[in-house]
Amino acid sequence: MNRISIAIDGPAGAGKSTIAKAIAKKMNILHLDTGAMYRAVGLKAIRLGIPCTDRERCSLMIEDTDIDVSFENGIQRVYADGEDVTPYIRTQEVAKAASDISVHPAVRIKLVEAQRQIAKKYDVVMDGRDIGSYVLPDAMCKIYLTATVTERARRRFLDLENAGALSGRTLDDVIVEIMDRDRVDSTREFSPLMRAGDAIEVDTTNIDAQTAINTVLEIVEGRIR
Ligand code: C5P
Repeated sequence: MNRISIAIDGPAGAGKSTIAKAIAKKMNILHLDTGAMYRAVGLKAIRLGIPCTDRERCSLMIEDTDIDVSFENGIQRVYADGEDVTPYIRTQEVAKAASDISVHPAVRIKLVEAQRQIAKKYDVVMDGRDIGSYVLPDAMCKIYLTATVTERARRRFLDLENAGALSGRTLDDVIVEIMDRDRVDSTREFSPLMRAGDAIEVDTTNIDAQTAINTVLEIVEGRIR
């Protein structure tokens, strides 16, 4: 029996996790947020005082790191060396660390292997940067989500504001952060953010979340059922 595998890629703030969650719920399959795994590795480096740009030290660290995920009622938790780090990975500091540390091939190889194992065991919708292009090249359906930098930053700004986590940042600051992450994610040598040749692109700039969900769901159902 072929497992269901849906790949959703795109830059930060394009709507990947909102859409992947909705699809997973509708189809009653798992949603694996692969960014959370990179965030857990970034968090470990921060705690150890290892600069995430130091390839050698990060590559040594990952050899000795166990990243795991679990799902309770469809909600993902991520563990680093047995500790549930889910509550600590959503800060801007950790997002930046994840972006910097995910450049190193040793980090990617280890996490990609774990992601592929999950896709072997479960029907899954996976969101990330390189799912359709590298992690699951044979995914049944590949979606590439985009939106303008300004719109993605606006969404991120509102999320941070609602969470009381702006820490004095302005919309312009968030635009710069998003542009920086885009640059690091799409220019790394190994497995960069890119649209797989057979992915269907959906631009979410001018549509609301529900319309984006419906659009992607229609594409997915057309491919899978
Ligand atoms: O999606 P999220 O913002 O949580 O991802 C955090 C960082 O992890 C991204 O900026 C990206 O650098 C990295 N990442 C990656 N490959 C993935 C998922 C995330 O390199 N499949």
